[in-house]
Amino acid sequence: MADPARKKIQQLDVMVSRVITETHDAVTLELFTGNEHLTYKPGHFLTIDPHQFPALERFIAYLEHIKGRKEPARAYSLASAPHENYISITVKEERYEAGKTPYPPLLSPLLVSQIPAGTRMKVTGFTGPFTLPDDIGERTDHVLHVAAGSGAVPNFSMIKHILETTDNVRQTLVYSNKTWADVIYKRSLASLTALHPQRLQVIHALTRQEEHIDPGEKIHRGRIDADLLTKAVGDTDAVEVFVCGPGVTPADKKAAKEAGTAPKPRFLESAVALLKEVGVAPEKIHTESYG
Ligand SMILES: Cc1cc2nc3c(=O)[nH]c(=O)nc-3n(C[C@H](O)[C@H](O)[C@H](O)COP(=O)(O)OP(=O)(O)OC[C@H]3O[C@@H](n4cnc5c(N)ncnc54)[C@H](O)[C@@H]3O)c2cc1C
Repeated sequence: MADPARKKIQQLDVMVSRVITETHDAVTLELFTGNEHLTYKPGHFLTIDPHQFPALERFIAYLEHIKGRKEPARAYSLASAPHENYISITVKEERYEAGKTPYPPLLSPLLVSQIPAGTRMKVTGFTGPFTLPDDIGERTDHVLHVAAGSGAVPNFSMIKHILETTDNVRQTLVYSNKTWADVIYKRSLASLTALHPQRLQVIHALTRQEEHIDPGEKIHRGRIDADLLTKAVGDTDAVEVFVCGPGVTPADKKAAKEAGTAPKPRFLESAVALLKEVGVAPEKIHTESYG
């Protein structure tokens, strides 16, 4: 029998109604969808096919030739929550690092710096298993989000949805970035915590921040570790955890297999291992890999 959720996946013609600069390399694109009635869950993503952008035509032809396969559509989590008027996505630009990354990134540089308000595009959505359960307020009174970089996007949607639809759920976001300048949703997170001080706390884990930061912020210097997670988790029986960020990619697995080694854990694998170490049961840990 066909999965009923799949039937809802549709292609939408959208217009970018607003471009919000989040950081030096990330933007939020608000998408106007006309009068379509849109049904999605916090955590769902949409996809964007790069073939629709004439500016990428030659680049795609070259990449498909050297990779020997068609460039797939890229996934972007919804940053908006279902109660909000617009849908939005937040895109962080991938970088090409000679000697480290095999190819220059295709779509994210275009979405971040070459899509002015008024641009029309086609998106397909909404889908994905990393969603907030409908009965979250009955399951728990504490949701912990653990995210890195653009991995905070689906969690941001979940945070807003929980604040809007429940009154008993407290949330903690442990958010890892290199520096304070890389933190997406800085202003929105600060205003949400100011509005709901008992229901939302944000702890920024900054791995390469050297200068002093606003003393109003809760900052952990360095990578997320077991001590930090023990404090953030609190009651291990009660907590429900949503982890999102870069994980081991199929390319990492292939390279490791060829070298006869295990792939090096990335953010997602390390965070899940730490959560288990501090006593969170595996069935309470929900994950999404951006690898
Ligand atoms: C479920 C999901 C949700 C996501 N949500 C978001 C989001 O909300 N915001 C966001 O910014 N990103 C999100 N992403 C990531 C996003 O889909 C893209 O992967 C990202 O924007 C990079 O796309 P790109 O076309 O710019 O780069 P790509 O062209 O995909 O390149 C990315 C990297 O992969 C390497 N690479 C490309 N092709 C190969 C290959 N054949 N073999 C080995 N390495 C290769 C490149 O060298 C580069 O380092 C999500 C991903 C998933 C899976």
